[in-house]
Amino acid sequence: MSSSPETVAREVRRRRTFAIISHPDAGKSTMTEALALHARMISEAGAVHGKAGRKSTVSDWMEMEKARGISVSSTALQFNCAPTGLANPGAGSASERAESTLPRAEAEPNVINLVDTPGHADFSEDTYRVLTAVDAAVMLIDAAKGLEPQTLKLFQVCRHRGIPVITVVNKWDRPGQTPLELIDEIADRIGLTPTPLYVPVGIAGDFRGLYDRRSGSYIKFSRTAGGAKIAPEELLDAQAAAAIEGDAWTAAVEESELLSEMGQDHDEEMFLAGQTSPMIFTSAMLNFGVRQLLEALVELAPAPAGRADVDGTVREVTDPFSAVVFKVQAGMDSSHRDRLAYMRIVSGEFERGMVVTHAQTGRPFATKYAQAVFGRDRSTVDTAYPGDVVGLVNATALAPGDTLFDDPRVEFPPIGSFAPEHFATLRARTAGKYKQFRKAMDQLESEGVVQVLRNDTRGDASPVLAAVGPMQFEVVTARMLSEFTVETELEPLGYSLARRTDDSSSAELDRQRGVEVFTRTDGALLALFSDKWRLQFVEKEHPDLTLEPLVAAAD
Ligand code: GDP
Repeated sequence: MSSSPETVAREVRRRRTFAIISHPDAGKSTMTEALALHARMISEAGAVHGKAGRKSTVSDWMEMEKARGISVSSTALQFNCAPTGLANPGAGSASERAESTLPRAEAEPNVINLVDTPGHADFSEDTYRVLTAVDAAVMLIDAAKGLEPQTLKLFQVCRHRGIPVITVVNKWDRPGQTPLELIDEIADRIGLTPTPLYVPVGIAGDFRGLYDRRSGSYIKFSRTAGGAKIAPEELLDAQAAAAIEGDAWTAAVEESELLSEMGQDHDEEMFLAGQTSPMIFTSAMLNFGVRQLLEALVELAPAPAGRADVDGTVREVTDPFSAVVFKVQAGMDSSHRDRLAYMRIVSGEFERGMVVTHAQTGRPFATKYAQAVFGRDRSTVDTAYPGDVVGLVNATALAPGDTLFDDPRVEFPPIGSFAPEHFATLRARTAGKYKQFRKAMDQLESEGVVQVLRNDTRGDASPVLAAVGPMQFEVVTARMLSEFTVETELEPLGYSLARRTDDSSSAELDRQRGVEVFTRTDGALLALFSDKWRLQFVEKEHPDLTLEPLVAAAD
């Protein structure tokens, strides 16, 4: 029997669901592992994502994936985290707070859902869709490199969706920029004001500890062999810190004062509104600052909240079960080609085996095969609550953006397509395979693998595929061949950006050089441009034309 709203409310309060956004190599895998280590899911770093174990955690769902040594599957890692004393920052001494991070029998641990974004250099719509399933993001930055292109792209999506962001400056054990340089870069380039919770003691490359800006105390770290264990922390008051660290301590305190003068102290409201970002300095490799990150997530990041449906009515977390599918993954396992749909629970309690309704078709959907998936590991999920991510096996009818519910009916707004930047035509190599080709195209499109564009001039035999990242094309051609035995030919098109337009503008746009208008399957009219100069030219010459940026444009 399903639990009471009070039980659901309690489960919701202790949950945090977030994703890490970063550029490849900033240390996302290392940080994921460090978080798991701190949550005591693993006893030694190296077990989940460590260099040695890394390859084996990569799923083998596609030859292509194997060849590249990457994982295309987005999954979620759930772990418990002991409650901390940070909730009341000014109160209590630093050592009391440190003690309170130890597991306490009387308090329930927090439940952290880390939704994994695909960790490869290429980009796809899946990466973006993951961000529709989280309540907060950790923007992980390499201290030496600062903001990098993919971090920026993902950050734009967070901003668009109003997701609060915690900034983590990683690799502080290596030479890099100064804290103030990094803070300025973030404020100037993306208009997000960092509000460091801690200031590092010791410059980048000489990471000794953290000055806790709110308590005024010093957290001194010690290295462990190979960074395999949780780094021991020593809590010292200002006087003791000054005695040990000398100038490094004074510099940290001065930096903190400067930040306060500039108004860069944490403000919960501004953070939740996406205007400021609590900042933490870490070394994921040495496990420095990882506990502080977990604390910040638990204490500052929002718990799952209700979600507005297509009519704007909010489905509250304590209402009966509802969930949104945010990703569909096909053919992950070559031995039995299954199809997994990942849903994020929005409201109520999920119990495996319950029969829910698929809002898009009105059909019943049995949830017998519910799994948690991380890397190669799958385990059965029996119960889940708002904020949790559950994989549904062989969910052939489900597509990204779909709603599942238990009465009363609810339908959430579609996820939306993201601004494509790569375009190519696709055709079957042999004419006899056309029917198969059409069928496969429809299937892949409904799964959200690529967007499909058509116009009268080009006809239907070679539709235009539009993608956020070119790897989506590879997935299409590989699956066309392996699942539908259709050999295809892909030809890149010379367009690089798309704008949404309307009927009254399309005729004029079609007359322009370097511009072509298409209808996307969802009915949207898209004008493709060869480059941004062409777009600027057309916008200048014809200011009356409708040309709206799509969600998450990179520029
Ligand atoms: P990802 O691509 O973002 O998942 O990055 P990885 O976690 O694979 O890390 C990329 C490289 O940076 C690896 O060689 C890591 O060992 C290294 N690395 C990650 N975090 C740190 C850190 O805090 N300090 C140092 N020095 N190296 C790190």
